Amino acid sequence: MGSASSAYRVIYLDVDGRIQKVVFSRFCSPYDIKELFCTALGLPRNTTLSLLDSTGAMVSIDPTMPHNTESPGPKSVPYNDCTMSLLLSLSLPLSLSLSLPLFYFLTLFFRLFPSFYLPFLFFLSLSRSLALSLSLCPSLFLCRAFKINELKTEVTNRLAMLEKRVELEGMKVVEIEKCRSDIKKLREEMASRNNRLVTCHFLDDNKKLTPRRDVPSYPKYHLSQETVEALRQPTFDVWQWEPNEMLSCLEHMYHDLDLVKDFNMNPITLKRWLLCIHDNYRMNPFHNFRHCFCVTQMMYSMICLCSLQETFTQVDILILMTAAVCHDLDHPGYNNMYQINARTELAVRYNDISPLENHHCAIAFQIFSQPDCNIFSTFDPEAFKQIRQGIITLILATDMARHGEILDSFKHKVDSFDFTDEEHVTCLKMVLIKCCDISNEVRPMEVAEPWADCLLEEYFMQSDREKAEGLPVAPFMDREKVTKPTAQIGFIKFVLIPMFETVMKLFPQIEDVMVQPLRESRDRYEELKQIDDAMNELLTDWPDGQSKSFYQGMSTCTADYFSEQYLDFLLRCFF
Ligand SMILES: [Zn+2]
Repeated sequence: MGSASSAYRVIYLDVDGRIQKVVFSRFCSPYDIKELFCTALGLPRNTTLSLLDSTGAMVSIDPTMPHNTESPGPKSVPYNDCTMSLLLSLSLPLSLSLSLPLFYFLTLFFRLFPSFYLPFLFFLSLSRSLALSLSLCPSLFLCRAFKINELKTEVTNRLAMLEKRVELEGMKVVEIEKCRSDIKKLREEMASRNNRLVTCHFLDDNKKLTPRRDVPSYPKYHLSQETVEALRQPTFDVWQWEPNEMLSCLEHMYHDLDLVKDFNMNPITLKRWLLCIHDNYRMNPFHNFRHCFCVTQMMYSMICLCSLQETFTQVDILILMTAAVCHDLDHPGYNNMYQINARTELAVRYNDISPLENHHCAIAFQIFSQPDCNIFSTFDPEAFKQIRQGIITLILATDMARHGEILDSFKHKVDSFDFTDEEHVTCLKMVLIKCCDISNEVRPMEVAEPWADCLLEEYFMQSDREKAEGLPVAPFMDREKVTKPTAQIGFIKFVLIPMFETVMKLFPQIEDVMVQPLRESRDRYEELKQIDDAMNELLTDWPDGQSKSFYQGMSTCTADYFSEQYLDFLLRCFF
């Protein structure tokens, strides 16, 4: 018995501590063996049995199942040479082993206190109340299964709700982004219309790069001797000329400086080029073709006044004049700060480094790339390269963000200036184009003042747009913070006068005609500011709201500072 080769097998079952020996033939079917086990356990014959070893592993009930030996102890039954014990697990109908009240009580108890279940099982195991422990298993497993199902349902529902919420929130984000995009487009369109801006082409549209009018229809003006003389002076009235007249004046300057003759320029090409330049300035309040003319005319007058042709080469003169003509080509009316903050196409293209000035250069040389407009067509490649580099250097120098750097460099050179030193000459040329670019206050008051209004108009246009787009606003551009006197005083005192006085060290002749007008302009604006401040003091105790708003309107309408109505208003109200 017990041998694997024996015709009989012996199994010892541990039933409630009682060891029941079961003997069956090797030729019994599994079904017969299970029936035999049920009989030995006192269970119905069709009860499903599960046989577990001491490790919890299920043991198949069939004739080949390994036999074991009688256990010395009540609990464990040695199983061959192993140390496994046989435990019996039964799936019983609940009523078989427990009275219903006890079952319900225990079921309820363990539902409420599930943590007691395992200790209880252990206790039953010790007390051999195997049937009880086993009979409780299904009910508790059912409870747990229900709980798991409930949890599953709840989790599924919550997941569905979350998914729905994510979907809705996602839709909201998409809608908000779309609204933002639409609003931005509308604002840009409105700003474009309000500012009378030409649509921003930025090198994509070559139409403007070719003159709209052909040269034969270009009106021919005969400049009077008086005009020719006046053109050499910083006092030249830039406001009384039509665009075609300004074009004729520019043309005259190139001839008068012998640039056409010395560089063998085609006069017709010069006309075409100037027409094309005119067409590539936009209708901005300030940065327009008239500003281009002003800067070039001031350069011309400085060349004449300082006799620069005696110290500079003709190539330098050509670079100075051409850079002045091209220096603000296709200016969009919004400065570099706006370009960078608004992340415009220009700022992206030029990596936030002088985007506008780089753009002006690019447009200038795109125009030169057309043979009909290339006034440098007679230049050999090396000469063209020199001219190109010179023009680019000067146009890039007009970025006011570089003002301190360029002026400091010039101050270091001016006391020992060497006209044969290329670096010195380049630095001087950079300072000269900077002087001309911001030289309006050098001009007589009646010529200069409208420019201040134009510049403020362009600034306000920008600050309004910056506010609308939620971008940072510079205080000197904010219509609620700046007035013409406050804007001009700081600029004249801290930017213009120091720069022109430094140039004056090299060219003392500019003092009377350029530096002195700047000092007078500074004094005039300081007087205006004093009046403004006095008005604001009185305004704090102003009793009549309507009059107050009228005065406020007057104080910001700085063009009226000198009007008779304004003086009359002051006299009637305050004196
Ligand atoms: Zn400019």
